[in-house]
Amino acid sequence: MSEAYRHRVRSGGCQCGAIRFHATELRDNPHVCYCRMCQKAMGNLFAALVGVRHHHLTWTRGEPAEFMSSDSAARGYCRDCGTPLYYRGVGGEHLSMAIGAF
Ligand SMILES: [Zn+2]
Ligand SMILES: [Zn+2]
Repeated sequence: MSEAYRHRVRSGGCQCGAIRFHATELRDNPHVCYCRMCQKAMGNLFAALVGVRHHHLTWTRGEPAEFMSSDSAARGYCRDCGTPLYYRGVGGEHLSMAIGAF
């Protein structure tokens, strides 16, 4: 993947607009996850995700709520409209952001 892709500034948010975010760099790992937890969290057959390191992400409006989907994983979402926004491993260096939220 090109440097231009990774360094492009990306913004996004939830469906209702209560949460907005801004990423200054994306990790080079866009992927789909078919695990059962992602299926349930997204209400879909898979989750399309891309990593954003914590220090590359700013919440520019609102703050996401989190649901602990296991002892080691949290799922961020909008508490007002329910849009799934990310998955993160506890203590991990990045959020796996929902690509469709950008
Ligand atoms: Zn919302
Ligand atoms: Zn998964």
